[in-house]
Amino acid sequence: MGNLACGKLLIATNNRGKLAEYKSLLEGVPWELVSPAECGIAEGDFETGDTFEANARLKARGYARLSGLPTLADDSGLEVDALGGRPGVYSARYGGQTTDSGRIGLLLRELRGVPREKRSARFRCVIAIAPATGDEVTLCEGECTGFICLEPRGEQGFGYDPVFCLPGLNRTMAELSFAEKNRISHRARAAARARPVLAKLYRQCVRR
Ligand code: IMP
Repeated sequence: MGNLACGKLLIATNNRGKLAEYKSLLEGVPWELVSPAECGIAEGDFETGDTFEANARLKARGYARLSGLPTLADDSGLEVDALGGRPGVYSARYGGQTTDSGRIGLLLRELRGVPREKRSARFRCVIAIAPATGDEVTLCEGECTGFICLEPRGEQGFGYDPVFCLPGLNRTMAELSFAEKNRISHRARAAARARPVLAKLYRQCVRR
């Protein structure tokens, strides 16, 4: 078991909400999870694609090459049917708004007058896992369906959670506890698929 690159897995995000979720969702994997900030790695701008898949792949590959570490990156966002799937891959940059409350305000304005049955939406998450070389990226996907409610509710989570309502529960994602969100979210579903990929990557790494 001699390979030093087999200790750390870079979680390529400086979004504190996402990072906290991954540290919980990936508990028990044989890697020490570290963020770019914890490794002193500057934030790269790799999101130049126009799909979640392309952006996740670009991020995983780019950060693996920057850090020399095996890397997990994700691209995630909100697709709203009444807006033709927007904001989608542009969820973090929606309308040039720079805060979560600015983005939520814009979303609610765009949906003003749209009835409940036409406010369907989904969160999507694509995880990309790259070995330290940045080659052979594996993708794992998860989604969570719901609808956009009329006004924000709840204090938990981040991003669009306060306006994303779960039909079965009739609560917004921001009204769920951290543990509840981590049982049903798009990121939880993608992370469950990522676990065996990470276990395999670890076995390959220690064998080298
Ligand atoms: P990314 O860092 O490019 O993946 O940005 C994704 C953006 O989508 C975030 O900044 C949030 O606005 C939104 N988003 C992704 N996942 C979630 C979530 O779990 N809850 C709420 N908003 C999310």
